[in-house]
Amino acid sequence: MLRLKGNPEEKNFLREVIQRSGQNLLECLQCGKCSGSCPITSDTVPGPRRLIAMILSGMKQQSLNDPTWWYCVSCGSCASRCPVEINMYQVATTLCEMAEETGIKPSEPAIHLFEEVFLKSVRKNGRVQELKAVMEFNLRSFTPFKDAVKGAKLIVKGAIKPKDMVARAKSDPEILRIFERVERMRHGE
Ligand code: SF4
Ligand code: SF4
Repeated sequence: MLRLKGNPEEKNFLREVIQRSGQNLLECLQCGKCSGSCPITSDTVPGPRRLIAMILSGMKQQSLNDPTWWYCVSCGSCASRCPVEINMYQVATTLCEMAEETGIKPSEPAIHLFEEVFLKSVRKNGRVQELKAVMEFNLRSFTPFKDAVKGAKLIVKGAIKPKDMVARAKSDPEILRIFERVERMRHGE
């Protein structure tokens, strides 16, 4: 799918996304295999195929405001099924950086808080302790009872265990090394 029409700003946007992400979006066939396997694509989240179509069309504002890349969980399903090996995670990371550079706020306001709580739990315990993480997130986002009914049902079914609240998992040295490496990369070391 080759889209090189459009005004200079639109073409620059497409060129910048391709250069920064290292993904040649011009090769996209719009086959939809990526969105078909993407766990976040829904009625409200357009998904990778439609996001790529917007980028190819030079729709900068719409692309930077699209919820797809905020919700991307880097699972790699899209890349593993894509016939031209486009890795959407790299595109999502690029759009995230570009949105932050232009001062665009996340479509999901609490997403940075979620990221912080999630990573803190992984760093401390070597994995996510779901119950603790959800409770901390809900408390800090001022919605303490948001998942109360759902949580009670999961406890009754045994899907989550209250004893996890007091269980102390061990930090994993390898995971701590990954965090340290990311910190060093952030500081340009
Ligand atoms: S699977 Fe690849 S080629 Fe197909 S729409 Fe997605 S990114 Fe484009
Ligand atoms: S890496 Fe992101 S865009 Fe690709 S399938 Fe996973 S969640 Fe969807």
